[in-house]
Amino acid sequence: MAHDATANTRPSNNFLRELIADQSARGAFDGPVITRFPPEPNGFLHIGHAQSICVNFGLADYFGGYCRLRFDDTNPEKEEQRYIDQVAEDVHWLGFDWEGAIRFTSDYFPTLYEYALHLIKNGDAYVDELSSEQAREYRGDWNTPGTNSPYRERSPAENLDRFEMMRAGEFAEGTAALRAKIDMGAGNMNLRDPIIYRVRHASHHQTGDAWCIYPSYDFAHGQSDAIEGVTHSICTLEFADHRPLYDWFIEHLPVPAQPVQYEFGRLNLTFTVTSKRRLRRLIDEGFVDGWDDPRMPTLSGIRRRGYTPVSIRNFCEAAGVARTDGTVDVAQLEHAVRDDLNKNAPRAMCVMDPLKIVITNWPDDQVETLTASAHPDRDDMGTRNLTLTREVFIEREDFREAANKKYKRLVLGKKVRLRNAYVIEAHDVVKDDAGEIVEVHCHYDPDTLGELPADGVKPKGVIHWVSASFGVRATVRQYDRLFATPKPGNDASDFVDDINPDSLTIHNECYVEPGLVQAEPETRVQFERIGYFVADRHDHAPGSPVFNQTVALRDSWAKQSA
Ligand code: ATP
Ligand code: MG
Repeated sequence: MAHDATANTRPSNNFLRELIADQSARGAFDGPVITRFPPEPNGFLHIGHAQSICVNFGLADYFGGYCRLRFDDTNPEKEEQRYIDQVAEDVHWLGFDWEGAIRFTSDYFPTLYEYALHLIKNGDAYVDELSSEQAREYRGDWNTPGTNSPYRERSPAENLDRFEMMRAGEFAEGTAALRAKIDMGAGNMNLRDPIIYRVRHASHHQTGDAWCIYPSYDFAHGQSDAIEGVTHSICTLEFADHRPLYDWFIEHLPVPAQPVQYEFGRLNLTFTVTSKRRLRRLIDEGFVDGWDDPRMPTLSGIRRRGYTPVSIRNFCEAAGVARTDGTVDVAQLEHAVRDDLNKNAPRAMCVMDPLKIVITNWPDDQVETLTASAHPDRDDMGTRNLTLTREVFIEREDFREAANKKYKRLVLGKKVRLRNAYVIEAHDVVKDDAGEIVEVHCHYDPDTLGELPADGVKPKGVIHWVSASFGVRATVRQYDRLFATPKPGNDASDFVDDINPDSLTIHNECYVEPGLVQAEPETRVQFERIGYFVADRHDHAPGSPVFNQTVALRDSWAKQSA
């Protein structure tokens, strides 16, 4: 839905939104705002890409335009179909739909080739045959202007001929390149006769063996934008130095539109790495189980972790769009999902480290069905049934033989409430030969369902429990941050040295309340007193539950920002 661009309700943490609103108020462009999200299909999308997706789709949506999904596929060796499929899935999952069919830069290879011929004919490009080593020397550096290549003054006719030979496969890789003829003395290195076509004898996932020359990113990107009628070509700051080149091509080519590039600051997160190169290393070196390991900051990883699309979109909106690169506290991302799940996840009980309670005054075969609300503040979510039996499991850490007043759980000779059920009092413990407690014997007070005990004294604690006979055995994976330091690899150390060795704890003998036995994969719940969990997308099945911890209950970000 389009917004009134002049309305003053727009939040001020997105300078691009303001800029486009101003342009639109001035009538600086007519027609819709057209953007694109341009991933390279060489890995999975991560949380930084989510920001770019939200910016591109968000701006188009805000101004009533549209956004395309275009794969920037000029690097055939590094790209794969499975990454294309995954990106499409992730963008949809995040809640966005692109205009029309998926586009590929490779769709435009024929046009880009024509554009290259156009430059050559105008004397604006030449085939260079310096070796890559020589080319580096001729290029100069920040302090030294470059030197013109001896091939720079070839005639258009000769260049056309040589370029045709490149295309026909008559050059080995690295022996010839088409370069734009701009300025070897330019202060901006990107303008020192940048390469626009390279020889690459590689098969391409879209175009097969049709080409053995491939355009550079710089040559392909802006022209693809122009072909698609993109009005705002939004990218991250590292491309700011490329903008003069972007503009140069648009000026020197017969393109159908005049897109303009805008840059914003990359989103980085504490305790997280977000470069595909680094993420790939985590996989290759076995630190995680793959691109969608729930500890990965990839969209498919955090999805498996239980994050919701809306929580990620809210996080990106709150992080804003800045003119400089920034680092956001990962606690803010955790806060966003906790906030969403607190409002929307049904409650359930799960015992992670079971200790058996025997209610000695409960008849052996008595089974009582109790009712509890699915969510304390959400009547619309209805109720759930709990099954209470003579034997129940509680958390081992919820019982002590003796404890001081600060311990508000079950203590020998003291009372506690079983959540959503009765008050019990512990009167005996049974230990094994090693002295470990294997059972706690309790009495329950049958008059305490929703009522105080007769003495009117409120038990000092409430603990969760699951019936030992009806509870469903489950595997629960608890995750901690993958890195132990806020800026992995910051102290000139290798970033993998900062990996947290305890980022995953698997609990194989947990018990969840019987109502969860039919839960489908990706069901999200709050396990009361523990945290938010999701039924694993791949490993969970009704009847053999596997839950991943999304985030703990405690909110360090809310505390910090309060
Ligand atoms: P990486 O360095 O992680 O490999 P990339 O920039 O090479 O990322 P692309 O597939 O080329 O990955 O990126 C697609 C789009 O996503 C680009 O427009 C890029 O600017 C944007 N993008 C990538 N990382 C971030 C980030 N951390 N914050 C915001 N936008 C990002
Ligand atoms: Mg890239």
